[in-house]
Amino acid sequence: MTTFPTTVPGTTTLGAALGPWACIVVGAGPAGAATSLRLAREGLRVLLVDRAGMPRGKVCGCCLSPVAIGELARLALPLAAGVPIPLATLALSSGGWTARVAVGGGGVLSRETLDTAIVEAAAAAGVDWLPGVDVVSVSTRDGTAVSVTLRSVADGSVVTIGADRCVLATGLVDRVRGDTNVDAIQDRRGPGAAGKRCMIGLGTTLPADCVDLPPGELRMMVGKQGYCGIVRLEDSRIDVAAAIDREAVRGGGGAAGAVLAVLGSTPDALSPRLADALHAARYTATPPLTRRFPPSAEGGLILRVGDAAAYVEPFTGEGIGWALASARIAADTILQEACGARVGEVYAGAHHRHFVAPHARCRRVTSWLQSPALVTAAVASARIAPGLAARVVPLFTGGGGRGGQR
Ligand SMILES: Cc1cc2nc3c(=O)[nH]c(=O)nc-3n(C[C@H](O)[C@H](O)[C@H](O)COP(=O)(O)OP(=O)(O)OC[C@H]3O[C@@H](n4cnc5c(N)ncnc54)[C@H](O)[C@@H]3O)c2cc1C
Repeated sequence: MTTFPTTVPGTTTLGAALGPWACIVVGAGPAGAATSLRLAREGLRVLLVDRAGMPRGKVCGCCLSPVAIGELARLALPLAAGVPIPLATLALSSGGWTARVAVGGGGVLSRETLDTAIVEAAAAAGVDWLPGVDVVSVSTRDGTAVSVTLRSVADGSVVTIGADRCVLATGLVDRVRGDTNVDAIQDRRGPGAAGKRCMIGLGTTLPADCVDLPPGELRMMVGKQGYCGIVRLEDSRIDVAAAIDREAVRGGGGAAGAVLAVLGSTPDALSPRLADALHAARYTATPPLTRRFPPSAEGGLILRVGDAAAYVEPFTGEGIGWALASARIAADTILQEACGARVGEVYAGAHHRHFVAPHARCRRVTSWLQSPALVTAAVASARIAPGLAARVVPLFTGGGGRGGQR
């Protein structure tokens, strides 16, 4: 049984959070926590708010790309020895074939440990950490500052406070849904999305003994309706994360049925023990995955970082690295342009330059995934030439790309 600390030292309360603040950061995932940490280290007075407390789980494959590992090193977090677990092998299955490819430079870490570590570092750097509070609205005051309205999750009390700026790091907005209410999942991809496949994320964790899976091995199964990854976490639990066509989840079997169908398309992937654990698990679902919002609004008084600004799909395992990189770019821009009116323009430009190529690459990979025959052919080829596949994989996942450069 895993035990995580229940309270981050430095936690504040709604009544004590009255400001004024240089920056209010909404959302304490990697993007928001890292932004607040960077700003506080440079002496800014920062409030970090999340509706959840730490530690909290998150629908995620929990694989750290080489870019994420590099960004974490820049943050100099005090992580325990042995974490992240080095990611050594990708076992990719499609159409009954499985290819095992050596991968390097990445790692595996539960979101409970990762996100709590960044929030703790932020609190230690002087950030006021306010969990259990929902941000209801953000508006500008005379075009020079923001008003942020906060509501306590526990008692519903509402407070409006002021700040020079607000950073929205609210992610894709996960909600816990049982299998019966998946109809409530809204398509928020905007105009032009009708008729296209709409992928949502599904995640759960399973007991350590439900599958024989060595630490450092990521198993990815690609089926007609989507793909699913399983990996062993640092506390031995099994993390399950899937991106699946929403219509398949709405079918009779719900979340468990959709995940089982993807795994079941690979013979040997689904032992009776694993199937039982997947049937019994409780799943968290995300809204539709691919999204894009302007990274800056109100002349830079409101910035968006991480998934709140843009997200493509999780197959290449880059979201955490992108979240941390956007936090660095946003914090650098705020610090450099603090006295100027150009924060929004400078951040939007830097965000675009940094992410346009990795997002386009990720979109190409996910459109390729929609052709099962092509994926199966690639997996079959990788079985014959694993050395070549090990060189090709980084081109798909960004390990050899420019994602880590600014
Ligand atoms: C199926 C799946 C698998 C994935 N696998 C990987 C992987 O292996 N590797 C990888 O790098 N990435 C992966 N990702 C992507 C990764 O999880 C995200 O990109 C990453 O979590 C983004 O971080 P973030 O800080 O932007 O948002 P989040 O981590 O989602 O954090 C957002 C926070 O904002 C809070 N919040 C939201 N709204 C409010 C509000 N109004 N008031 C207060 N708080 C609020 C939420 O409670 C949450 O804590 C995966 C994603 C999915 C869906």
